Amino acid sequence: MTSPPEDEHLPARLRAQAIIRDGEQRIGRAWFRSLTRFLDRVRPAAAPPDGPLDPNRISDSAQFWTDEVNVQVVPEISNVLRRTWRRVTSAGDPVTDPYVADYLNDAGNRLKRVPDEVYARIVVEIERGIREGRPIPDVTAEVQRILTASGSELWPNRARTVARTEVMGAVNAGVFRSAQLDAEARGDMAPMKVWLATEDTRTRPSHRAADGQRTLLGSPFEVGGAQLLFPGDPRGPAQEVIQCRCSLLPVVLGETLDWTDRQNPRG
Ligand SMILES: [Zn+2]
Repeated sequence: MTSPPEDEHLPARLRAQAIIRDGEQRIGRAWFRSLTRFLDRVRPAAAPPDGPLDPNRISDSAQFWTDEVNVQVVPEISNVLRRTWRRVTSAGDPVTDPYVADYLNDAGNRLKRVPDEVYARIVVEIERGIREGRPIPDVTAEVQRILTASGSELWPNRARTVARTEVMGAVNAGVFRSAQLDAEARGDMAPMKVWLATEDTRTRPSHRAADGQRTLLGSPFEVGGAQLLFPGDPRGPAQEVIQCRCSLLPVVLGETLDWTDRQNPRG
């Protein structure tokens, strides 16, 4: 009998998962709260109980949603990014870093598409009602259900997907950028990084295959035919990015840097 090979990265994986779970909950809660407020505004105008359905009214509140994203959701993403940054280095300042500003701007733009998504779902429902010759009150009730955050599993599920995707992107962007500045501060001309897969039933085969892949910090990983600067890289193709739970380990002086186990007095 041989014992299974020991996983030298197990403690790091567990600590990473704890940080990720916490960020995921915060981002998911913020997104769902904002969505609730947005839908509560839209519902009386787009699906009045005794008036015609008017999905075009959704865009009246598009700016409201954008403000919610910027004020409620993006700051939670920013917190995750800053938290992981400070575990890697005391160099640089995430608050004023242009890479971070760009990253958060992109994240905000991804999240701003919700009004279009709500509109599309409602139009599909109305068309289905017409096609199937359903009574108007039934169609109205179904549209009202879509326009109610807790009306079905639809929006809680979306909140989970958004939170998982955004937390991983932010964690890994924070580690990536802080490792870059840390290497600059140490005069390391060729910093490296390692891809660390999270083993669970949902792990993509391409990501399991990428486990342990080592490359220059500034060069992309090759994962399933895609080039990703880090796990969850928002510039990568959706099928290699959405709900990815892998993480990034910077390599310092030949040793992987366990970013989940570094305490920094600056928090
Ligand atoms: Zn992955």
